[in-house]
Amino acid sequence: MDVEPFSLPLSRPLETAAGAIESREGFLVEVTIDGVDGVGEATPLPGWTEPPEVCGRALRDIEQPRTALEGDELADAPAARHGVTLAVLDAAARAAGQPLYRYLGAPEHRESVPVNATVGDGPPAETASAAENAVNEGYPAVKLKVGVRPPAADIDRIEAVRRRCPDVELRVDANGAWSGETALEIVPRLAALGVAVVEQPLSAEELAGHAELRGRGVAIAVDEGLLEHSPRAVLAAEAADILVCKPMALGGIDRARDVVETARAEGIDALVTTTIDGAIARAGAVHLAASVPEIRACGLATAGLLASDIRDGIATVEGGSVPVSQGKGNIPPR
Ligand SMILES: [Mg+2]
Repeated sequence: MDVEPFSLPLSRPLETAAGAIESREGFLVEVTIDGVDGVGEATPLPGWTEPPEVCGRALRDIEQPRTALEGDELADAPAARHGVTLAVLDAAARAAGQPLYRYLGAPEHRESVPVNATVGDGPPAETASAAENAVNEGYPAVKLKVGVRPPAADIDRIEAVRRRCPDVELRVDANGAWSGETALEIVPRLAALGVAVVEQPLSAEELAGHAELRGRGVAIAVDEGLLEHSPRAVLAAEAADILVCKPMALGGIDRARDVVETARAEGIDALVTTTIDGAIARAGAVHLAASVPEIRACGLATAGLLASDIRDGIATVEGGSVPVSQGKGNIPPR
C-alpha cells in the first residue's frame, strides 16, 4: 500500500470548530489487490476526524489493507479508514468491471445525483441574489447558513429568498446555534415560509431537544450530532427526520452506506455530504449517493471550494447535479 500526502488550497479560508483553515491536507492511498489497482483518499478535517498526523501515522502502520478494515485498528482514525476503504472498493469494483455505485449495490443505472447549493451568511438582498443565481443554474435545493444573526434577521433573509425563489426547496443550517427556546419559536415560522429542512438547529449533544422539534412542519436534520452520538443513538432517540452522512467522518463509504440503509429501514431519511474533500473522496461520495435509490439533493457541490484539486473535472456540478462516472471503479484512470 502506498501513501502519498497532498495539500489542496481552498478558494477561501474555511471556518471550522477547530479554527480557520486555508487548505485541505490529506493522503492518497494506493493499493493493488490480486493485480488490480485501487486509489482512495484520506482527508482528515479538524473537529470532524482524527488530526492529519494521526491519520498519516495510522495509514503508514498498515501492513495489509483488507485485514486493517476487518479489525478495529482504524477505530480512532475514520479518515484513514475512509482512504483505505475507498482504495479497496475501487480495486474491487474495477475487478468486477463495474462503476463503483453499481458495485456498492445500486439497483439501477444512475446518470447523476441532485445537489444543493449552499449560501453563506449575508444581508437579505445579497442572500436572495445568491439563491436566485443558484436556482437559475439549475440547483433543485438551496441551503442557507443561519444562526450567525439574531433569529428575526434570519427570518428577513429567508423571506427575501422566498420572494425571489418561490418554488425552490429551501433548507437552513443553524450549525447548532439556537437554544431550544429559540428553535421552538423559529421552526413554525420556517414552516410558514415553506422551509423544508432545518439542519442542526441545536447543539451537537442535544438529542431530546431535536426530538421535540420534529413534527412541526419542517424536517429536522442532524449533522454535527453524529459526531457526539452514534447513528444508532440518534435513531433510538427519534431525534432526526434526516441524517447528514459524511463518509470521511463516518469512517468510509461502506459505513456511511450502512448508516443510510439503517436509517431508511426505520423510516428516517439520509443524505450524503463531503467534508470538502479532494476529487477522489468527492467522487466516492457521489457513487455512494448514486447507490441509494431516490436520494434527496445532497451536499456534494464542493469542488468549487478548492482552488486546486487532485484531478480536474471530477465530480463537478452541471446544472444542479453531479454526473456519476460510468467507467470501472471510482474515477477514470489518468
Ligand atoms: Mg451542516
